[in-house]
Amino acid sequence: MSKGYTGGCYCGAVRWEVTGKPLVSAYCHCSLCQRLSGAPFINTIHFPAPAFKWVHGSDSVLDSYAVEAKPWKKRWRCKTCGACVASFHEKGNRWSMWGSQLDRDEEGKVKADMWEDLKPTVHIFYETRLLDVKDGLPKWSGYAGSSERLK
Ligand SMILES: [Zn+2]
Ligand SMILES: [Zn+2]
Repeated sequence: MSKGYTGGCYCGAVRWEVTGKPLVSAYCHCSLCQRLSGAPFINTIHFPAPAFKWVHGSDSVLDSYAVEAKPWKKRWRCKTCGACVASFHEKGNRWSMWGSQLDRDEEGKVKADMWEDLKPTVHIFYETRLLDVKDGLPKWSGYAGSSERLK
């Protein structure tokens, strides 16, 4: 059986699980992620559609929406705490979730066995960053491989 990774919203009402290997794990500095999350950048992790499932039971805990700039991306949030938890990209047939919502250990750290497999390997949309990050990972102005490599 392939390894599963679990996470969810702030209050715990919404829970998801993904299995197998991620397609990509990146720090995204785009202005859409910045505005939607409130953070200077986020860690987005993509999985092929069949790898993802909700594991919280009833779907009545979920609310979905899309933003005008990306109507093909269905975003989900928790009705109780309001946290956005995952999104489904119809064109790419893939799910994205945020690394910040992976399950934690007793000390609040992302569980080591999950982090090794899922930690970001690249920065994307670095051109619109709010913060310089000197971590040695590759940095792209837009999407990795199809924009200008900055460092
Ligand atoms: Zn919640
Ligand atoms: Zn982004």
